[in-house]
Amino acid sequence: MSILIALGANLASPDFGFPRETLIAAGVRLGMLGVDTLALSRWYRSPAWPPSEQPDYVNAVIRVATEAKPLALLELLQRVEEEFGRVRTVRNAARVLDLDLIAYNQEVIRTADDRLILPHPRMRERPFVLLPLRDVAPAWRHPVTGEPVQALLDGLELAGTVPLEAGPE
Ligand code: ADP
Ligand code: MG
Repeated sequence: MSILIALGANLASPDFGFPRETLIAAGVRLGMLGVDTLALSRWYRSPAWPPSEQPDYVNAVIRVATEAKPLALLELLQRVEEEFGRVRTVRNAARVLDLDLIAYNQEVIRTADDRLILPHPRMRERPFVLLPLRDVAPAWRHPVTGEPVQALLDGLELAGTVPLEAGPE
């Protein structure tokens, strides 16, 4: 059983500071809202996608326990993004906080309006999701295909996504 949330940030926030501090604060905020972190991955740095002048991202994955059902959990994540000052503009725009619901146990969901797709539709090709996911759930398998996380990683170019060295970012 794994409920997995990907955290990402590539802009400093006036209230929370560097991206890594923002992600920690977001985890604390989620705890206040009934989403308890059971495991936190290492921190990773990854280039913005598609390639651009945007700053690198800081990424992590948390494994959580919560009573919230999938759609309620997504709404909660979006509420926290807004609290942290995320302004939704164009897709892939730089952001102070991105919280994606990667997987909710073995559930496979697609709402009519695509508001919630589980597992997250783009996770398979994202080393910055799969590397931290492996840290917190090494035995995880894709609920649709049965592929282990390691098999998904084996097919990807991982060089761009590296553990973050100690420092203020
Ligand atoms: P991205 O995270 O891919 O950069 P956004 O955070 O802007 O993009 O989310 C785009 C849309 O994806 C949102 O409107 C959200 O409702 C939808 N979405 C569908 N499935 C999920 C999911 N599993 N986790 C997060 N957002 C999702
Ligand atoms: Mg998102």
